[in-house]
Amino acid sequence: MPAGTLQQANGKTMAKKKAIPHTKCSICSRLADVESAFQKYGWEEDNTYLPAAAGKLEVVKDFKPYSSRKLQLQQCPQCKTYYLYETDYEFLVNGSEDEEYLRRLSDEQAAEYLAK
Ligand SMILES: [Zn+2]
Repeated sequence: MPAGTLQQANGKTMAKKKAIPHTKCSICSRLADVESAFQKYGWEEDNTYLPAAAGKLEVVKDFKPYSSRKLQLQQCPQCKTYYLYETDYEFLVNGSEDEEYLRRLSDEQAAEYLAK
């Protein structure tokens, strides 16, 4: 099959292939390899948040659906790049703390989490 044929194929076929590198992706290009954010209840002025682009990612696997500490495999709907999303939660008397981490995974790393 010539290389160009895949480009014209329907969405199902294209979904299996990486359509574009993450550096060219309108979502992933706005995300660093590692993103982190920190929120403390009662100290909102110091809070940081993940970039809005992080909210465009789709959850592929939820490893801890019932925990207040999340561990999710997420995927970019555009370029199919995988991310690991983790949160940590600490209850403190003077204000609970929430931490979020988003790490871009290589194909090999993503395959490991997909197999879990
Ligand atoms: Zn992307």
